[in-house]
Amino acid sequence: MTRRTFLKTGLTLGLGITAKALGIMPAQAKESGRMFQVTKTDEEWRQILTPEQFRVLRQEGTERPFANKYDANKDPGTYHCAGCDLPLFSSDSKYDSRTGWPSFWKPISEKAIGTKTDWKLLHPRTEVHCARCGGHLGHVFDDGPPPTGLRYCMNSAALNFVPASAR
Ligand code: FE
Repeated sequence: MTRRTFLKTGLTLGLGITAKALGIMPAQAKESGRMFQVTKTDEEWRQILTPEQFRVLRQEGTERPFANKYDANKDPGTYHCAGCDLPLFSSDSKYDSRTGWPSFWKPISEKAIGTKTDWKLLHPRTEVHCARCGGHLGHVFDDGPPPTGLRYCMNSAALNFVPASAR
């Protein structure tokens, strides 16, 4: 790295942090949309998603607790991304967190999901999105059960359940 590149990088990072602190940076998922394998315009997403799926997946919305499809689902099977159909979570790692949202202690694969820091509330949270299409899924917290101690708190609207019997 040349001295010039180093200075430029430092300046860019500095400005990035300042912009983030001021809340003027767009959401990272939107900003880095082109990095995902599956990309569509908002118009294209609206054509294949329900309004609720669009609000959650593409606008980082949160559905109501308890009044959602998969919170109480105990059937064996796989939860796929409602946007691009990538398998994300297995019923094997689903548990009742009593939060009102489907919760898992691990994803099917670390490669299936991506995370970023979400500053929408006063305290930072870790946002979770689909690694293939960037669709917002929910958040991950560190108050989950063993063996990981993690709680992947997901929106049912971001998921499509595929029963084991259907495969
Ligand atoms: Fe996806």
